[in-house]
Amino acid sequence: MLQQTTVPTVENKIQIFLKKFPNFQSFKRKKLEDVMSVWSGLGYYNRAINLFKSIEIINLKYGGTLPKTKIELIGLPGIGKYTANAILAIGFNKKAFPIDVNIKRLISRIIGSNINENDLELLLENLFINKKSYRKFSESMMDYSSSICLKSKPKCSECIFRNFCKSANKTFVSIQSKKNFKDINFYIFKKVNKIFSNAVLSHIGQLEQKPGEVLKRGSPIDSP
Ligand code: SF4
Repeated sequence: MLQQTTVPTVENKIQIFLKKFPNFQSFKRKKLEDVMSVWSGLGYYNRAINLFKSIEIINLKYGGTLPKTKIELIGLPGIGKYTANAILAIGFNKKAFPIDVNIKRLISRIIGSNINENDLELLLENLFINKKSYRKFSESMMDYSSSICLKSKPKCSECIFRNFCKSANKTFVSIQSKKNFKDINFYIFKKVNKIFSNAVLSHIGQLEQKPGEVLKRGSPIDSP
């Protein structure tokens, strides 16, 4: 539902939809028109058609359980590489990295050069440090870049990467040059990764802390 559609638009509709279709089994013996009638008003009806087809496949081929590999997910109608990675990382906490425009902008600014999505994914797969939470890492990267490293007015003075970011304190950061995988500065990339991993672990540690208990894991954000 969120493809091409904002969260406020989806918020109400998803509740109604989940009441009618709480799980994959609830689609059995339903027709496409039943899904369409609940979807009405959201537009982009191809998504509803693909959803219906995908759930038919999930029920028939995967016994009513969402598959957990990228290759199987991409085989479902309407699911591309980004969505498959998002399902694996955010849904299943598996090693996968959904690269959206926000993450791409954040990393490109820090290294001072455009990096293509395939290279960025490859880098994260090879250099990723925080093995405990792929879910939290992906969500944090998206939230961080969309709230701090804003498109036109990045908040560099509040940014944890400001001391080594190649684009820090420019009022409008426009990256023109392109970098290939082999040209990427791995030191900077590892540094970004470490700071983010520590921030994520720290956040998880605080969430898990019970009153009066000393944190067992997690560490403060690195001071850059
Ligand atoms: S220092 Fe500024 S440009 Fe660099 S990542 Fe932070 S907010 Fe973005």
